[in-house]
Amino acid sequence: MINVKFENQNKLGKICTNCVMDTTDSSIYFDTNGMCDHCINFYSKTLVSWEKSLANSDTFNKTLDRIRYYGRGKEFDCIIGMSGGIDSSYLVYLAKEVFNLRPLVFHVDAGWNTQVAVNNIECIIEKLDLDLYTHVVDWEEMKDLQLSYFKAGVPHIDTPQDHAFFATMYNFASKYNVKYILTGANYSTECVRNPVEWMYYQSDVIQLKDIHKKFGTKPLRNYPLTSILWHKLYLPFIKGIKVIMPLNHFPYIKSEAMQLLQDKFGWQPYPQKHFESRFTKFYESYWLPKKFGYDVRKVQYSSLILTGQMTREDAIEKLKQPPYNESTIHQDFEYIANKLGITIKELQTYFESPNKTYKNYASQESIYKIGSGVFKLFGLENAGKR
Ligand SMILES: [Zn+2]
Repeated sequence: MINVKFENQNKLGKICTNCVMDTTDSSIYFDTNGMCDHCINFYSKTLVSWEKSLANSDTFNKTLDRIRYYGRGKEFDCIIGMSGGIDSSYLVYLAKEVFNLRPLVFHVDAGWNTQVAVNNIECIIEKLDLDLYTHVVDWEEMKDLQLSYFKAGVPHIDTPQDHAFFATMYNFASKYNVKYILTGANYSTECVRNPVEWMYYQSDVIQLKDIHKKFGTKPLRNYPLTSILWHKLYLPFIKGIKVIMPLNHFPYIKSEAMQLLQDKFGWQPYPQKHFESRFTKFYESYWLPKKFGYDVRKVQYSSLILTGQMTREDAIEKLKQPPYNESTIHQDFEYIANKLGITIKELQTYFESPNKTYKNYASQESIYKIGSGVFKLFGLENAGKR
């Protein structure tokens, strides 16, 4: 039997007086009123830029015109990556029904889809009469890379899945010369970001290759790769590929969006953001909080508090519950081990191994830091990680 410890790891430590971020984020700092830097950054930068985007609908409408114009005579005018989660599902609906775009919808199957996610994607694609392109990641390579991250002992073990999503999307846009990528990234539900120590940049290909070189057992021949210099500099500035985030230009209230998708498409909600992937559910609800003490619900709830979609009291109450379901966690643990072709005992060994950080491996952290500084300077990015 696996040794799952059920002690309460949900200690709050010093907590922000405005949101629910606390000292489990080791770089957090508070002003004299006890307000944290996530909140300060939100009110002083993100909110200002967001309100400007919402007020300036002319600019956004012109962008939509350009996308439609670009798509004349083509099979589609933009691409949208769809996970089946709320943000991307709502975006697909908006693109087709509200913006009158003709997107090619794109899905990366990294092997961890829940049945609910598959159903959600199918029902929306079918009812909107859209094309779906599914890229299936080479499972043997994916498994090898995934195990490498477990062996590396770092918190950000969701990287193999996330990297594949982004890399496939950028590779596709580049290969087929698609000028517009629409993403569901948004301030409304994501204005507070996971601290870098919790979830290091998943697009860092140097770190990915270093971890795989140290712990992998077979070469990555088909696994899709991207790198920050390629997708943040070459693609936008040389190839002219633009990434648009429509959910920042349009009022986006999560509960209303969920209701609309349920009513219109029979879309089914998930118990928590990102739970459309079985791996992410296990990772964010169990592995990350139990092994490292990082509870992503604090980030998600804080975003909703700052955007007026949840009360702080409600969030504190919810955080008193364990982040995972105690009655099914053993099955989840077993499922992950089986799927990766290892024993429960082996997975348990990784769980009990010493915790490492992204700093233990080669990385491009300095490039990310410079890039983020430059982007912030030019007002291109406001809600970056720190
Ligand atoms: Zn705060």
